[in-house]
Amino acid sequence: MSEFSLINTHFKNSTNRHQNTVLGIGDDCAVSTISANTELVSCMDTLIAGRHFAFETTAYAIGYKSVAVNLSDLASMGATPYAILLGLSLPKNNADWLKEFALGVSDICNQFHVELIGGDTTKSDVLTISVTALGFVKKGQAIKRGGAKIGDMICVSGNIGTASLALSHILTGQQTTLQNALDLPMPKVDLGQKLVGYASSMIDISDGLGQDLGHILTAGGVGAVLHLEDIPCDDEVDALPFDKKYQHILNGGDDYELCFTISKDNFDKFNALHPNQIFKIGKITEQQGLQLYHRHQKVDIAIQGWEHF
Ligand code: ADP
Ligand code: MG
Repeated sequence: MSEFSLINTHFKNSTNRHQNTVLGIGDDCAVSTISANTELVSCMDTLIAGRHFAFETTAYAIGYKSVAVNLSDLASMGATPYAILLGLSLPKNNADWLKEFALGVSDICNQFHVELIGGDTTKSDVLTISVTALGFVKKGQAIKRGGAKIGDMICVSGNIGTASLALSHILTGQQTTLQNALDLPMPKVDLGQKLVGYASSMIDISDGLGQDLGHILTAGGVGAVLHLEDIPCDDEVDALPFDKKYQHILNGGDDYELCFTISKDNFDKFNALHPNQIFKIGKITEQQGLQLYHRHQKVDIAIQGWEHF
């Protein structure tokens, strides 16, 4: 059973519907009515030592990244971040470690004007950090996974595959210049907000471009064509042999760039206002499924991505 069918089977329809819920389980964030003009956007992501980050990862990076991945989910809805709640399960009370960890948390919170408003601290065998992030959108403005229209362009917000290459360097014991791409991802919060009113659907790339774009296609009931040579990537990823390069780009995760769909008209308008921030990589099609092309040649690469079960 996949992580997604587990959630759908046991949790998706397990509780009361509340009139304030605009969007429940199934998107990057939930959306709830809180006033006549404003909706609350909320999400939670958990990071576990040895699973989501290597045991050697610095305390600073663990603190920073735990918040960054949640702000990325807010970004993918076009929300303005407001606050976080921090759940900490610690094997021991190590003051030096906690000081560095807290600095990582506060640095990214300060950068995005986010306040730590609560949390929970417990002892546990495995270091686990669970962050809940809260943000706001104007009523009806959240950008969902569903909404892609046939003929829309598919875009990303930056280089794809860098974090995955960094991870493979680390796992094989190689020196890497790409460590920061993995440890200190920059959530695209400003861009996410700018795309409100332009993008027809959006997701952040946490589990791999192939799988995460797949969520947009499923939610919209549409298919897509990707032009692999148009996907932006770091020089080190670009220099890899074809198969490795596109494994990192399509099936690697942890980049926390945005993937979204946008009409040709809105693409042109957005580009005129904010040049060089969004990159066209393909098109939404009526034909279901994902078709991959490289320089007009059809190619076949299995989409895997990250699933927990
Ligand atoms: P993301 O990759 O953006 O963090 P996930 O794949 O973790 O999203 O989650 C998919 C959806 O399932 C989200 O809407 C999330 O809130 C929901 N979800 C995940 N786990 C649970 C759970 N245990 N109970 C209820 N909803 C859940
Ligand atoms: Mg997400």
